[in-house]
Amino acid sequence: MARKMLVDGEVNQSTAEETQFEFDLFVIGAGSGGVRASRFSAQYGAKVAICELPFHPVSSEVIGGVGGTCVIRGCVPKKILVYGSTFGGEIEDARNYGWEINERVDFNWKKLLQKKTDEIVRLNGIYKRLLSNAGVKFFEGEGRIVGPNEVEVIQIDGTKLSYTAKHILIATGSRAQRPDIPGQELAITSDEALSLEELPKRAVVLGGGYIAVEFASIWRGMGATVDLFFRKELPLRGFDDEMRAVVAKNLEGRGIILHHGQNLTELLKTEAGIKVRTDQGEEILADVVLFATGRAPNTKRLNFEAVGVELDRTGAVKVDEFSRTNIPSIWAVGDVTNRMNLTPVALMEGTCFAKTVFGGKPTKPDYDNVPCAVFCIPPLSVVGLSEEQAIEQANGDILVFTSSFNPMKNSISGRQEKTMMKLVVDAETDKVLGASMCGPDAAEIMQGIAVALKCGATKEQFDSTVGIHPSSAEEFVTMRSVTRRVAGKGKLKTNL
Ligand SMILES: Cc1cc2nc3c(=O)[nH]c(=O)nc-3n(C[C@H](O)[C@H](O)[C@H](O)COP(=O)(O)OP(=O)(O)OC[C@H]3O[C@@H](n4cnc5c(N)ncnc54)[C@H](O)[C@@H]3O)c2cc1C
Repeated sequence: MARKMLVDGEVNQSTAEETQFEFDLFVIGAGSGGVRASRFSAQYGAKVAICELPFHPVSSEVIGGVGGTCVIRGCVPKKILVYGSTFGGEIEDARNYGWEINERVDFNWKKLLQKKTDEIVRLNGIYKRLLSNAGVKFFEGEGRIVGPNEVEVIQIDGTKLSYTAKHILIATGSRAQRPDIPGQELAITSDEALSLEELPKRAVVLGGGYIAVEFASIWRGMGATVDLFFRKELPLRGFDDEMRAVVAKNLEGRGIILHHGQNLTELLKTEAGIKVRTDQGEEILADVVLFATGRAPNTKRLNFEAVGVELDRTGAVKVDEFSRTNIPSIWAVGDVTNRMNLTPVALMEGTCFAKTVFGGKPTKPDYDNVPCAVFCIPPLSVVGLSEEQAIEQANGDILVFTSSFNPMKNSISGRQEKTMMKLVVDAETDKVLGASMCGPDAAEIMQGIAVALKCGATKEQFDSTVGIHPSSAEEFVTMRSVTRRVAGKGKLKTNL
């Protein structure tokens, strides 16, 4: 197939120029974005190479693995542990359903960890095969830029190999950061948390984001005492405030001790464990302290100075709407650009890149109505605008529909935990602007709602949809009465 670069008028470059470079595309980083972009580019007929650091579950500046964060130390291993921890509550709930669990129920952490590691090794192999099946040339080593069309790969033995390419794609992702407090080396990040030798009996988690909340749920579900520290009043900044309050209540209901408005100031190693000091003068002993305080884009070692690729103040690669940097031959997708740091978004950006550069169809990633989930127990899932975002952006009124109910399963199990659902609607157009749910299966339900929002569904269309009975999901199509009407502030959208 002909190799076409159809960006900014670069239609049908001459054969002489095409053969000037060893590759049409060289990708640095074989995570979600890099693998997707390289496979799809190769399918369009491009000659593609990709480099990636050697594999290990715990990353470093020189350790990574094909598949990237999602597969090796993110979404996949985390969800395996979430599944593992959910059984604890299920066993409790089963008793009122007639299950007589008389014997002591033991949990074998090492077994689960081994199963998790086996799975990520299997997926690492699958990703390598996906690349080779697509005809993408794989190099193991650390990639760095040496020119606008030249990449150097430093292999494990230190050998440096250099390759030329018409286009270079940076897809190096991000890595967990540690706050600079005394004793910070005693804490772990999510990388190590997914590979702990022993299940902690006492865990302290610092952070209010989704990773912090998820690990708190995982360890609590497995029986640990968990103290969660975060700076704001509620965890999960950026999500709908009412839903954040529901999550906080549920976390407490499941036995997690919440410390809002607090930060850690010092960690000390003692015979009894890690002594954790807070800025409110509290002291707690823990077996494990997890810092889930944010991630930084992997840009430091890429030698961008050589060509002058522009970074923003967080160190992320600055790109235009097509993922192109200020250097026309260099592009970037995924977490390294710090746009919307989710696997499906990195995949979308990789797909759009391939379509734009090699598919003859310039395509911008579309960040509207991207659904996402927080896999705490029970999970939170959202799509579209939160109530606060809708009020900020709307010119007219916003109608808010809420439903808080005891899921049918709980009426027998006796668990005291409400499910909460919410729809945010534009009063004038009747368009549903946002949906949220905190309750069992929220992520599975929200994916379908996301399709409806992407199609521009109105509240009337939700209401005319027949429910599936008996289910929690049917509540989304039976929220008849408005909970409140709020005036919009009409401020223009400033970020995604
Ligand atoms: C604990 C955790 C849980 C998460 N859970 C979810 C979730 O449930 N849902 C969701 O959508 N997202 C989740 N994410 C986020 C998701 O993992 C990322 O958004 C996604 O992996 C980004 O893909 P990427 O391709 O940009 O980067 P990555 O997947 O990080 O890939 C970048 C790759 O580049 C490699 N690399 C870096 N520098 C170099 C170099 N110089 N040379 C060669 N290779 C290099 C790295 O080793 C890595 O493999 C989670 C993240 C974490 C940490």
